[in-house]
Amino acid sequence: MTDTYDLIVIGAGPGGYVAAIRAAQLGMNVVCVDKRETLGGTCLNVGCIPSKAMLSASEKFAEVTGPLADIGVEVGSVKLNLKQMLANKDKVVSDLTKGIAFLFKKNKIDWVVGAATVKSAGEVVVKPASGAATTLKAGRILIATGSESMPLPGVETDEKRVVTSTGALALATVPKHLVVVGGGYIGLEMGSVWARLGAEVTVVEFLDRIVPTMDNEIAKRFMAILRKQGMTFKLSTKVTGAKVSRAGVKLALESAKTAKTRNPGRRCGAGLDRSASLYPGPGAGGAWCRHGPARLHPGRC
Ligand SMILES: Cc1cc2nc3c(=O)[nH]c(=O)nc-3n(C[C@H](O)[C@H](O)[C@H](O)COP(=O)(O)OP(=O)(O)OC[C@H]3O[C@@H](n4cnc5c(N)ncnc54)[C@H](O)[C@@H]3O)c2cc1C
Repeated sequence: MTDTYDLIVIGAGPGGYVAAIRAAQLGMNVVCVDKRETLGGTCLNVGCIPSKAMLSASEKFAEVTGPLADIGVEVGSVKLNLKQMLANKDKVVSDLTKGIAFLFKKNKIDWVVGAATVKSAGEVVVKPASGAATTLKAGRILIATGSESMPLPGVETDEKRVVTSTGALALATVPKHLVVVGGGYIGLEMGSVWARLGAEVTVVEFLDRIVPTMDNEIAKRFMAILRKQGMTFKLSTKVTGAKVSRAGVKLALESAKTAKTRNPGRRCGAGLDRSASLYPGPGAGGAWCRHGPARLHPGRC
């Protein structure tokens, strides 16, 4: 591996890996750096792909435990094997991320694991999780670092009881009650998965509607479908805090009408963003509170 390239791509998500492959196909000598151990970024590792694997599997579960019997298809007793469902999701992710590693090899793209920092024009320092940093040089640098979950003030995530979408993709048991903070598509997808698997799901949304970047008529229809699945909604409501105790997680809420600020969503990096939301509120990131006995503390609502 040389350390001087035509192009250094920072970030191996859909923004970065596609650019790296195309640049290599056009004759550039390319290296791609990502702090993750696997390629594919948020989308393949903890985003689009695992969420769709869980949506698909949970939909099938909900179908055989519900509407199939109504049309005369009886399948006997159905048991959820959550461990296997999660393992299947992990396999889908693993197969696809390996596919990108194969494409990198095929297109002679070097891949470096570590956190990249642009030191100066044409110079990138890569710090691996352990060991010494290396310096890469190139004529051009492409930054495609995506987005990260944005913390909510007053809500500390521990990826166990209070989780981001990443934690919500890997819960080892079906929560009794799951509160999704933010009614954007990511939160709704996760809520839908766990509702289909048996959790009571409540969505708390700052605005008076869900999925605010979608057409309002579609949003209304979407909410009706989710309600039919058993999800409940608290609209025009702001989460101001979360207290974790042995008994559960208690959320403090206030009316959005009296709240002074909007909920933060996702911090956006360059390249494609995880939610591409300019409006920083609903559901793009947020926090998912996983409960034993859940309590929504109404505050001023
Ligand atoms: C649960 C969930 C479901 C989603 N579902 C969909 C969907 O169905 N359809 C859809 O279109 N989109 C979906 N998205 C959004 C989608 O994942 C993003 O739009 C997409 O991943 C953005 O691609 P990207 O390449 O810009 O960034 P990312 O995929 O976030 O990749 C950026 C990469 O950069 C790396 N990185 C960051 N900083 C550094 C650094 N300093 N050094 C080295 N590496 C660094 C990160 O580790 C990461 O791997 C979903 C997101 C989530 C969270």
